[in-house]
Amino acid sequence: MIAEKTQQHAQPENLPEAIRHYIGGRSVDSVDGSTFDVIDPVTNKPYIKAAAGKKADIDAAVAAAKKAFEEGPWPSMLPRERARVLNKIADIVETRGDRLAEMESYDSGLPITQALGQARRAAENFRFFADLIVAQHDDAFKVPGRQANYVNRKPIGVAGLITPWNTPFMLESWKLAPAIATGNTVVLKPAEFTPLSASLWAGIFEEAGLPEGVFNLVNGFGEDAGDALVKHPDVPLISFTGESGTGQLIFANAAPYLKGLSMELGGKSPAVVFDDADLETAINATVFGVFSLNGERCTAGSRILVQRGVYDEFVERYAAQAKRVRVGLPSDPKTEVGALVHPEHYEKVMGYVEIGKSEARLVAGGGRPEGFEEGNFVAPTVFADVSPEARIFQDEIFGPVVAITPFDTEEEALELANNTKYGLAAYIWTNDLKRAHNFSQAVDAGMVWLNSNNVRDLRTPFGGVKASGLGHEGGYRSIDFYTDQQAVHINLGEVHNPVFGKAD
Ligand code: NAD
Repeated sequence: MIAEKTQQHAQPENLPEAIRHYIGGRSVDSVDGSTFDVIDPVTNKPYIKAAAGKKADIDAAVAAAKKAFEEGPWPSMLPRERARVLNKIADIVETRGDRLAEMESYDSGLPITQALGQARRAAENFRFFADLIVAQHDDAFKVPGRQANYVNRKPIGVAGLITPWNTPFMLESWKLAPAIATGNTVVLKPAEFTPLSASLWAGIFEEAGLPEGVFNLVNGFGEDAGDALVKHPDVPLISFTGESGTGQLIFANAAPYLKGLSMELGGKSPAVVFDDADLETAINATVFGVFSLNGERCTAGSRILVQRGVYDEFVERYAAQAKRVRVGLPSDPKTEVGALVHPEHYEKVMGYVEIGKSEARLVAGGGRPEGFEEGNFVAPTVFADVSPEARIFQDEIFGPVVAITPFDTEEEALELANNTKYGLAAYIWTNDLKRAHNFSQAVDAGMVWLNSNNVRDLRTPFGGVKASGLGHEGGYRSIDFYTDQQAVHINLGEVHNPVFGKAD
């Protein structure tokens, strides 16, 4: 069985010899020549080397991006011209969807069908911001007879983009698309666990006609390349997605430079199932909500709060369904849960599975799935009767592990839902209209889905409250983050001011 699996787990063809930086339109090694090993999560064996960027590499990338911003055509091009390039990028991403998904799945362990979905989303992000900048209008204010005032929206400069490993290419697109759509130039620092798919960007951008120096990429570790980007004085903006702890550190490191910061951080989102909910749909959705993307999903509904009247039935049916979720090789189109990204992360998740066994009642999973003796495979794991003090209730596990907790009243449900440091998403399952809205509005979450899974509308705000983030992106909020709105005031009448030093 293992031999058969290894055969099916073939490395994608025609991989580059190594993953390099991309600076000022050229693919380059690190200034000091250093590299790091990238492993594949099914075997945990190194399969490619990536350039390990440090301060000198970031300096070179920022210098290239700054030059392109100050001297290049990109920031002052008409929105329509920039939108044409963005649409071409979307077209190319779409036509390379299969290749992209194959590389992403191999590198990250995400199931291939889900990686393909993420590739489509990446294309859609570029199309969406292409549309938005063409339709963009800015405020103008009239003070009759006295003033006309308007907003002169300007790109800011070099944007530093720092991304995590869970859906690498899509999350990179989520920052790249609005940053460049608005006329900025960028330095992207992708996650060190998953640098493979990011190596496709340079070719895509070149083919689409993005001017040299607008896009730059430096691979490497957070504490080296990421840190140097955060502390670079010529980078006025940092858009970061990652853990809340890393966000806190970046916030402190950016403070001396007074940078613009957008922080998309961790989550421990509740899915609240009232006893009047459509149980079948709620079970299907909450199974998908925590086990899709291997549970490595910031908006995962990883705490399910269930009203007492349907609690026992819910737990029983949920556990049975979780046991049927197909764990498999990431490359297999039938796979629903693949391999976790890295052995370090696997150890963390397995650590929580063990903690959970001492804190609550295990009703599904709880270890390695049968037949997967190596690699970062975790059986979909369900704990019931989880108390709010439990670590598996409070901490973000970021794997296929879910905590189910009973409640009696709506007040208790709200208290439980809000009882963590996080506030990213919430999912509410009820057919009571008033309760649905009142509960949604009261819950501490940046995003709420009512009788629905996480289905995004790209125009809506995206972001969290409390430890889940700072600032919102999504739709025109992304445009706001990546631009300065300069107010220009024009006097139309007499100059209005008291005259100082007037001659008598
Ligand atoms: P992480 O914080 O470890 O790393 C994220 C990125 O930050 C990586 O590129 C890393 O190299 C870099 N980094 C690390 N230390 C740094 C430093 N000192 N200075 C600058 N950069 C640094 O997060 P991760 O483990 O890659 O990702 C998982 C986390 O991301 C989870 O907490 C998840 O909830 C969160 N996430 C949030 C969202 C959201 O939109 N809210 C989306 C996806 C993932």
